[in-house]
Amino acid sequence: MSKNRKITLSESEIPTHWYNVVADMPNKPLPPLNPGTGEPIGPEALAPLFPMELIKQEVSQEQFVEIPEEVRDIYAMWRPTPMFRAYNLEKMLDTPAKIYYKYEGVSPSGSHKPNTAVPQAYYNMKEGVKKITTETGAGQWGSALSFACSMFNIECEVYMVRISYDQKPYRKMMMQTWGADVYPSPSERTQAGQKILAQDPDTPGSLGIAISEAVEMAAMNDDVKYSLGSVLNHVLMHQTIIGQEAIKQLEKDGADLPDFVYAPFGGGSNFAGLSLPFVHLNLTQGTNIQCIASEPTSAPKLTKGVFRYDFGDTVGMTPLIPMYTLGHTFVPAKIHAGGLRYHGAGAVVSQLLADGLIGAEAIDQLETFEAGVMFAKAEGIVPAPEANHGVASVIRKAKECKESGESKTILFNMCGHGNFDMLAYQDYFAGNLKKHEMTQSEVDEATSKIDAPTIESVQEMLANM
Ligand SMILES: *Cc1c(COP(=O)(O)O)cnc(C)c1O
Repeated sequence: MSKNRKITLSESEIPTHWYNVVADMPNKPLPPLNPGTGEPIGPEALAPLFPMELIKQEVSQEQFVEIPEEVRDIYAMWRPTPMFRAYNLEKMLDTPAKIYYKYEGVSPSGSHKPNTAVPQAYYNMKEGVKKITTETGAGQWGSALSFACSMFNIECEVYMVRISYDQKPYRKMMMQTWGADVYPSPSERTQAGQKILAQDPDTPGSLGIAISEAVEMAAMNDDVKYSLGSVLNHVLMHQTIIGQEAIKQLEKDGADLPDFVYAPFGGGSNFAGLSLPFVHLNLTQGTNIQCIASEPTSAPKLTKGVFRYDFGDTVGMTPLIPMYTLGHTFVPAKIHAGGLRYHGAGAVVSQLLADGLIGAEAIDQLETFEAGVMFAKAEGIVPAPEANHGVASVIRKAKECKESGESKTILFNMCGHGNFDMLAYQDYFAGNLKKHEMTQSEVDEATSKIDAPTIESVQEMLANM
């Protein structure tokens, strides 16, 4: 049995294909709906916002989609990413569990997000798009897309959630260094932004509002397209290189397949990226690997939300998507894990959760920072506040293993470093972070405002078509 701390692969082992779980799903995700007519929308409705190739991927039923050579070439700047055996953390916890983590913080922008930003910028460039608009919460997605656009000489316009714009000037600078234009959202540049500002001039903003702004900009201009860093199927698919590499790395280390796979959950992309290749093994080879998403108790869409059709943005400009949601008008508490404050989950991960093929748990922010600090002391890397949720889940499970004496194998996604999130750590150390849990009655209140068809009514409609 090897004693490697670090398990690496060569550049030639960068996956050649993305994995599309839709091909293997027993129940396919339900289609998006036109909010006006309530009818399923076809791919053509997405054409004003996305390049054709990404729309094809969004609705693809193929099990594997080939990664273009130009994209693999840029992936090689930081991929394959290393996997680590967390010996020090195991020792600190005195657990018989074997803990592995995949480290995505080695990318240029410091998280998993360039894995999809690069192919998205590439396909836009191929189809002659001049500018891409997007939203960003914590700044991770905006910086990833800014980097990717600079690789292909495309302009990038970023709507950054106001609270992050104020709290995270370094991420903003990073985007500007790569050549992007960054605006605090809500802004006066769009009708969506103007409308929100008129109601609440001091709003901290939200991802949903910023999405409304970026979508509006793209919809109004022919050579401008929009890009989303999570939630959509093509985004989740691009991230599956993480899990594919992880399987090779565990094999190379002579390790067992994991019993548990954990990752933090915002819209689902880094969770899907690590876990879907393991879900593939469960669905095609009969393994029983438990894949569990870690979400904040302050935005508990998976553990307390409803599985309903809902808008992807706040204003209601996107198609209706079948998702676990807290309601599209939900404005989350100002917790530091900005990337996890989104109201909904992607259609694919939502269907997988509804079918019991993945699991979820919610963790309070104090427990997540405690876990992150412990991880930093043990393994050196200071995790992003989002990533701390996955770490906290792992520590819970490792403690359980200590109680039961079971030597389970645990894998998780260290999806980004926290080097630009020191303000969050400062707040934690100063005792300024409070426990925050959204109660079921608050969730019920927020979700009661959803005015869209139920999953059951759409299933019925489709059965009669
Ligand atoms: C964006 C981000 C997340 C949340 O988004 P997902 O799509 O759920 O992965 C989590 N962690 C980090 C470091 C991020 O940048």
